[in-house]
Amino acid sequence: MATFSDLGLSEFVIRSIINMGFEETTPIQELTIPIALQGRDLIGQAQTGTGKTAAYGIPLVEKLMTQFEQIQGIVLAPTRELAVQVAEELNKIGQFKRIHALPIYGGQGIDWQIRALKKKPHIIVATPGRLMDHMRRRTIRLNDIKIVVLDEADEMLNMGFLEDIETILKEISEERQTLLFSATMPKQIEAIAQRFMKEPEMVRIKATGVTVSDIEQHYIEVAEKLKFDVLTRILDIQSPDLSIVFARTKRRVDELAEGLGKRGYSAEGIHGDLTQSKRDSVLRQFKDGTIDVLVATDVAARGLDISGVTHVFNFDIPQDTESYVHRVGRTGRAGKTGLAITLVTPREMGMLRLIESVIKRKIIRKPIPTIVEAVQGQQRLTMNEILRVIAEEDIEKYKAIAEELLAENDSVTLLSAALKIITKEPETVEVHLTETAPIRVRGLGNPGPRSPKGGYNRNNYGQKDTWPRRRNHDVRGGAPRSRDNRRNGSKNDQ
Ligand code: ADP
Ligand code: MG
Repeated sequence: MATFSDLGLSEFVIRSIINMGFEETTPIQELTIPIALQGRDLIGQAQTGTGKTAAYGIPLVEKLMTQFEQIQGIVLAPTRELAVQVAEELNKIGQFKRIHALPIYGGQGIDWQIRALKKKPHIIVATPGRLMDHMRRRTIRLNDIKIVVLDEADEMLNMGFLEDIETILKEISEERQTLLFSATMPKQIEAIAQRFMKEPEMVRIKATGVTVSDIEQHYIEVAEKLKFDVLTRILDIQSPDLSIVFARTKRRVDELAEGLGKRGYSAEGIHGDLTQSKRDSVLRQFKDGTIDVLVATDVAARGLDISGVTHVFNFDIPQDTESYVHRVGRTGRAGKTGLAITLVTPREMGMLRLIESVIKRKIIRKPIPTIVEAVQGQQRLTMNEILRVIAEEDIEKYKAIAEELLAENDSVTLLSAALKIITKEPETVEVHLTETAPIRVRGLGNPGPRSPKGGYNRNNYGQKDTWPRRRNHDVRGGAPRSRDNRRNGSKNDQ
């Protein structure tokens, strides 16, 4: 994907885009902005949530003249909400160039609007009916319009605005540039294009064939500093058979894999800086189950075809929606269900919303798991392991010593002690990760409150200091933490 600076935009506009937190163009933006900048007519079709507003808003702001105090651009939008939202976005794009947009819609006092119009907006974003009112009253004149945008054209047609749109377009000089954006392309749009547009260029972005619908998807909002502890708790609670943890950078991958190793998980990292033979060997170990947790960058995981991955963790939220789909698609393959959990810092909530809008699905919010849940998860695991050993393994030679212990202790006490020894309790080994800058998508949903400093009070995080301490990290050595004996003895072998 292109960056905005590849598009030949002016300094002011680039600055405002950066300020809005946009880092790369969306596909519709990449393709339409250059065409619109050339002054050509354009029809852009892309599904909802793909950034169509900026796709026309950026060239619109770029091409208008700040010094010329007349309405030079008109955006027609179907609803009042949309008009307000679009005007806001245009004002953000125009903030440094000082291009001003005003929303004009029915239901708002017309006198108030007339006063606002006296402030000489460069762009008005209007619902068709109200714009017609102003045209009749001559409170808006369309003589100087250079660019017209029909936003959500399909929706405007659905709402019966066709005639109004025609009336408006007939009033505007044919020298204008006309841009039309829509999520769908009903036949009537072709008719409008034929009558009112000059050899429009068609840009169509196919809806992403998103295939993540069968995968259960959760997110947990968590401060950057707590992510690692949250990850290990989930690993303890869920005890995934095979999981992939995605991190943003190679360095993070190394640090995470090492940190997980320190806390007793069999984890290995994979990324582009490793030699091919190292990568192959890590993958082989992951496939045959000697490694439970694979930590990877996006690039390293592209095209990996590994069956049996039960969990995907987005330790860092992906930078773009496509990566999300790729990552999550690593699990739940071959008709099996999978679970994807994304850790999201409060500042990254906008990105999460963007992902939701692209995959057209809500990602379910989950609370930060508590330490108690983590411990219980491990206890359950131990219990299952004991039941499995009873069922499958030869334990005859342990029976004599068991009898001896039972002569002097009651069975519940004895068994509890044994459980304590073999249960992997959450550890407090300190692990430090290099922080990366959070992904920010501004103007998207509510970024949510920043968690107050030290405010770990929700979700029992206050128990931090009462974490059960491991007596000695090495004691656990041979104790099975995985429910599956094929994974024993593979820890910390990197
Ligand atoms: P559409 O009109 O296609 O439904 P919008 O223009 O409303 O989509 O954009 C959806 C969201 O994506 C908005 O919150 C917008 O701020 C955000 N957005 C648009 N372009 C980008 C970009 N290049 N990078 C990040 N976020 C973007
Ligand atoms: Mg839109």
